[in-house]
Amino acid sequence: MQNLLHNLNPEQLAAVTLPSQHAMILAGAGSGKTRVLTTRIAWLIQTGQVSPAGILAVTFTNKAAKEMTSRLGAMLPINTRGMWIGTFHGLCNRFLRAHYRDAALPQSFQILDSGDQLSMIKRMLKALNVDDEKYPPRNLMYFINNAKEQGLRAQDVEAYDDYNRKFVELYDIYDQQCQREGVVDFAELLLRTYELLSRSQPLREHYQARFRHILVDEFQDTNDLQYKWLKLLAGQSNAVFAVGDDDQSIYAFRGANVGNMAAFEREFRVQNLIKLEQNYRSHGHILDAANTLIAHNTRRLGKNLRTDAGHGEPVRIFESSSDLQEAQWLIEEVKSLLNEGWMRSEIAVLYRSNAQSRVIEHALFTAGIPYRVYGGQRFFERAEIKHAIAYLQLMDNPHNDSAFLRVVNFPARGIGARSIEQLQDAARQHGMSLYAAVPHVSGKAGSSLGGFVRLVERMRFENQTMPLQEVVKAMLDASGLIAHYQTEKEGADRIENLEQLVSAAMLFVSEEGFGIDAPAFAGPKAQAVAGPALVDGEEVEVIDADAPLPTVMSPLSAFLSHASLEAGDNQAQAGQDALQLMTVHSAKGLEFDAVFITGLEEGLFPHENSTQEEGGLEEERRLMYVAITRARKRLYMSFSQTRMLHGQSRYNMRSRFFDELPDASLKWLSPRVQQHSWFAQRKTAWDDVPEAGVNAIAQSFTRKDAGWRIGESVAHAKFGEGVIVSIEGSGTNCRAHINFGKHGMKLLDLNIAKLERV
Ligand code: ATP
Ligand code: MG
Repeated sequence: MQNLLHNLNPEQLAAVTLPSQHAMILAGAGSGKTRVLTTRIAWLIQTGQVSPAGILAVTFTNKAAKEMTSRLGAMLPINTRGMWIGTFHGLCNRFLRAHYRDAALPQSFQILDSGDQLSMIKRMLKALNVDDEKYPPRNLMYFINNAKEQGLRAQDVEAYDDYNRKFVELYDIYDQQCQREGVVDFAELLLRTYELLSRSQPLREHYQARFRHILVDEFQDTNDLQYKWLKLLAGQSNAVFAVGDDDQSIYAFRGANVGNMAAFEREFRVQNLIKLEQNYRSHGHILDAANTLIAHNTRRLGKNLRTDAGHGEPVRIFESSSDLQEAQWLIEEVKSLLNEGWMRSEIAVLYRSNAQSRVIEHALFTAGIPYRVYGGQRFFERAEIKHAIAYLQLMDNPHNDSAFLRVVNFPARGIGARSIEQLQDAARQHGMSLYAAVPHVSGKAGSSLGGFVRLVERMRFENQTMPLQEVVKAMLDASGLIAHYQTEKEGADRIENLEQLVSAAMLFVSEEGFGIDAPAFAGPKAQAVAGPALVDGEEVEVIDADAPLPTVMSPLSAFLSHASLEAGDNQAQAGQDALQLMTVHSAKGLEFDAVFITGLEEGLFPHENSTQEEGGLEEERRLMYVAITRARKRLYMSFSQTRMLHGQSRYNMRSRFFDELPDASLKWLSPRVQQHSWFAQRKTAWDDVPEAGVNAIAQSFTRKDAGWRIGESVAHAKFGEGVIVSIEGSGTNCRAHINFGKHGMKLLDLNIAKLERV
């Protein structure tokens, strides 16, 4: 038996081996929270306190769930495949698959990702003749998701005026429409599970008896409904083991509630509170930077982090004149890291928003450096892949109207808008899905729609008889998608992506153990090991707690769920040694030898929206803390004076976060003389620039009028503090571009504007 415990420090050991009671592990980044959680699962199983089936572990991303499962597999000689380790969404999906009947869902219900959800809402508003300027589809979507995340159905939402009442009414219609089509959005997965568990005592008791140990990573980012769900599952007697870091709460904008940590301590009467203070991830300078920065937040639970790793290298900071130059610099640094033998997959490039990745991607592509983007446009969100997925969805559940509309005339098969309208009328009239309504359409429209239905039926038949990857391959041909893209000028890339979908299916089958003759899949009838049982006169599906978990989905359903749920893992590129690109949000929980944090400018990071919102700036600071603490050995930060973003040129001030970092841990990299760096005036710590260089930069500032200089800080009564970026004209006709941070760039007449030096 492997000794699981010998690599732990005393606090970690105490946490791993706590008795079976509620516990909270509160600790900063890199202190081993995730490691403790995983080791505890292994320890509980190894010491016979619980069987693998009695564990429910919640992680924040699918990637994290995979990692945890494979670590467990390495620690223990057990089959981890059936274990309930996953994200809230993934676990709820699994629960609803097992209890679809009780949840009033069709067996092959499908998951709407946010893009699908929005297009469905648009379609619905159009069909109802609702003015989408007055009721913007996106707002309705936020409204619905928000309500669901608070556990509210349309009838539970209190509307305080007519406008609001309309939203509520539309929410209701939306839910009915989803029900008719057999689709659920992300928030619905959770709400539906929660409702079913609260409604059905037998089911609730069954799962409470089963999951003796519930373990939650990244607890600080749970939302209200997730917290309620945990409370329900935990019941009176199970042990909830929560690990979290209030300083890393970064999803408030999506309803996460860091207050859940305090609520948990109080409501679960947590006796075991353990803090971990030793950081095992980052070298000293990196950790000092993180600690000093986060100390600027006021609302903190308070904890410290120290390391034995020594100071290591200082944090390197680079200023560029443009985003293009920033990308060029990044490429050079990456190249020299690679020359020194660093692994590509151990180098991460982080940014605040997805839009920033384009320039970096382009530079990497040109330099021939393989990279992988997490988030951004995900593989499964590309148009051609969505089309292919829509065919697969129809094969699995032909009543999915979104899928139907997406491909009924793609590739074109002569089914025009008029025919679709007729079909939509018929569907409304008979209260059925579009697919089911086809026989009610007559004439030419009816016969061309009939042709489409026959095509789908043929594919559905093949789905019964072939392995998943063959099903995907056959669909690509039969649907005409490949043939269609062959005629398109830029279709080659798309065909390549479609072929990658076949590889993704293959990989999925081998990883999940699906396959027509693999024992894991024994058809829908095998879904409940113990079969339906009668408890208190109510029929429920019961899964035997100690039996290995049955696979409840067909390979196709499972693959489709995976496509909707996977959080940015690009299957097709998995395994390749590539540079890692992602937003700071998606870097949560991960670690890399070297990290670049790019675009550290006011308005971008901290994001401009945050400065106006209550608590917004503190959330940005936590985000920056997350970014810094991803790095093990080397950390770079960069910012740029100008940047093209969303088609607009922006002039930026460097992020205020630089002023919150300890000087002793920073190393300012050499600026280029032609940069006109106004910044040279403000910051004195130029490690790499000889004194003469700094003077040359200072002298290159053009003196123009009345002593105003480029780079000078000024204050304006209305716009606040700013920096002069350029000066044009002279004498009485002298104007300046001044960057006022959150008020943006202004062109002011220097003779009229009342400016003060600061
Ligand atoms: P985050 O807050 O970023 O999620 P975390 O607290 O979950 O961080 P882990 O990812 O579990 O931290 O651990 C950080 C790193 O430190 C990992 O590489 C882990 O293997 C290592 N580590 C944790 N504890 C120890 C230990 N006792 N000895 C050696 N290495 C350790
Ligand atoms: Mg972690």
